[in-house]
Order: sequence, then C-alpha cells, then structure tokens
Amino acid sequence: MLIDRAGNVVTDEFEKLPDDSPIGSGAVLLSGARFLAEASDSGPIGVLWPNDRDVSALAPFLERLPVIALHFPKFRDGRAYSQARQLRERYNYRGELRATGEVLQDQFQFMLRAGFDTFEISKPGEAAAFAKAGRRYSVTYQQTGDGGIPAAQMRRLRRIGQGAISVGERTASFAADLGKTLSAESPAKIIAEAVRVIPKGRLAVVSSFGIESAVLLKLVADTDRSIPVLFIDTGWLFEKTLAYRDALVAHFGLADVRTIGPSADRIAAADPAYDLWAHNPDACCGLRKVEPLAEALLPFSAWITGRKRYQGGHRSSLSVVEIDGPRLKFNPLAHASARTVAAIFRSAGLPQHPLSLMHYTSVGCVPCTTKTAAGEPVRAGRWRGTRRTECGIHLGISQTNPRTH
Ligand code: SF4
Repeated sequence: MLIDRAGNVVTDEFEKLPDDSPIGSGAVLLSGARFLAEASDSGPIGVLWPNDRDVSALAPFLERLPVIALHFPKFRDGRAYSQARQLRERYNYRGELRATGEVLQDQFQFMLRAGFDTFEISKPGEAAAFAKAGRRYSVTYQQTGDGGIPAAQMRRLRRIGQGAISVGERTASFAADLGKTLSAESPAKIIAEAVRVIPKGRLAVVSSFGIESAVLLKLVADTDRSIPVLFIDTGWLFEKTLAYRDALVAHFGLADVRTIGPSADRIAAADPAYDLWAHNPDACCGLRKVEPLAEALLPFSAWITGRKRYQGGHRSSLSVVEIDGPRLKFNPLAHASARTVAAIFRSAGLPQHPLSLMHYTSVGCVPCTTKTAAGEPVRAGRWRGTRRTECGIHLGISQTNPRTH
C-alpha cells in the first residue's frame, strides 16, 4: 500500500491485519474492535478506527499507538475530521494520524489542517497527483489542528534564522510559543518545519552516532540527506562508534557529515598526558566537545538534536524548541517515548550500534562510559559514580567562546 506523507509518496510500513490473522512481530494495523480486545505489547501496533465510534476509547492507549488510521467511507462523510481534531487538540495525540477510504485530493488541505499526517493512496495511478496536492499550500493564517505555523509566526522565525533578530527575552518567549505550537507534532513533522523555516545552509544536525542516534538520522535523511551533520570525535571514542558512524553514513546516504574535534595543538597544550578526564572532566569535555562544537556551529542559525525527555536529568523537561544563545535548537524527539524509538528502529530495520548488544544504553567516551544494568536509567552508565550527567554542549554552548587557538 502506498501512502502520502508530507507530499512524499512512500510504501506503508504497516500491514493491515485481518481479524483472523495472528499478530506477529511486524508493524500492523488492527481493527478497532480487535485492538481494544487484545492489543499487546508485542510490536508496533496501530489501529484502524471506525468513524462511528468515540475516540475517547483510545485515550488509555495513545502513548503507545504509533498510528491511528481514521476512515472516510464516503467523501461526504466528514466525521473523521472531528475525530482527528479531538485526538490532536483534546487528547494531545502525537503519533501519526492517517486518512483512509475516500480520500480526495480536493479535501487534502482540510485534512492537513485537521491534523492528518498521511493519506492512504488506494489507486497507485494517483500517487503523483497526491504528492502534488500535498505540497500545494505552505502557509496558514491561523492556528489549526495540524499545528501548522501561522504566517506571522513563520516570518519572525525566518528573521531569527537569518540572524536579523537579536536574541533577547522576546525571542526566548517566541521560541517557547513555537515549541508549544509544535509540541504535539510528530518528530518527522518537527524536522520538516525546521527545514522549511530555517534558510538552507543555516541548519545543522548534531549527532553522537550513539545507541539511539539512528532514529534521528533516519528522520533527517528522510527529509533531506544534504543537511550538515556535525559529529564530535573527542579522541576518546570507542572504535565501534567510529565504525558505526561510517555504517550509518552509508546506510542513509548522508551527504555532509562533518567530523569535528579538538586540534592536536589544543590537546598538547591542555591535556598532554590524556588524563584530564580523570581529574577535571568539566575541562576535558570543554576542550574536547564544547569548544569544537561552538566553533563548528558558527555558520549556523539553528541545530537539531536527538535528546528525549525519558533520558532524564536536565532532559526531563526538554522543550521541542529552545533558544541557545543566538541559535534556535530543535529537539524533535523530546516527547518521544522509549517505545516509539524502539518501534522506529524495528519498523525501519535500522542498524544497531554494536555496543547496544553488550548492555550499553548510552555511549560516549571510553573512560566515562560503562554498561547499564536492567532497570537503570538509560544514561546511568555515563560518568558513573559522579554527579555529572551532561558533557556541557547542551548547557548553553553559545555562551562558550569558540577557540581562537
Ligand atoms: S566524556 Fe570523559 S573523556 Fe570524553 S570529553 Fe568528557 S571527560 Fe573527556
């Protein structure tokens, strides 16, 4: 089955499962009745919801539902519009909303405005027309169920992206408003909006190519493989991380991955014995991560990170959009659950970091990374035995002076 997602026609990763077929481990869509009767945690499971049943029955399951498909039996029957808006606005549903049945191109924009993300294409011959319809309008003038950014807000965002508005209290509150606008959106939609509003060449992704990084990189690659990806090689990384970086770059066809790090001269001056991590980890992370990233970010107006709230610590109250010095920072996975991340890994068949198979749930530098035990927070193995939980690149990097050495 083909579906239209943000103007791109793609093959659906979910299979519609008849009620009498067994549930396997693949991504499936179950009928509403079957879902309520026997939905399990066995794999990515979405639901085909009838338009004559109250969506409130789905409320207890919304956190773990990756897809809700709403049905339009006839093009004149608009009950699924109301269901979509209820799910988005009343229940704050953040997963994918899909329109199935009599989906007409003429109704496309109404559906987008109501909060739908994807549209089932029942006749393959209509795929090109669907893709065109999905891209026809790019501006909204008032807040709508799809979380689209209204034109006035968009203009302001572009001016920040171009450096035309300096950072201040009003800009921070604007970023907070934008974060609220996008807070219920899917990670893919948030990335698409970042790409749409930040001028080309001014938006970067920062990735550690760690245990969960493949999810963000997949979503970025699905949107635009040419977005620069910054990777910090501290000189202390696991060989397996470097090999994984190369594997993911090839897997996704990423066109502009920039490996950055401290210069040999800086290391010779500040950490000649390579033991700074042991007695001053703040200085070590500053030298190896914060300074090089501050310098590498100079040409950019905004960056995308892969942090999530479930990672805990400073991240537990993460916003979807933040201001970091003169730059915007997008965190499209902020509200994603560990289950969602695992589901994307499975459904997209993403390569796993080799250390994830050896009980590492978060990976950084060799001296500062340990395995985690079952039930520990995902980042418990980082700087174990210290109060340190972050390296510093997310704690106000723009207040850091890029190195001038
Ligand atoms: S994580 Fe450890 S080794 Fe890596 S830069 Fe920070 S203190 Fe140094």
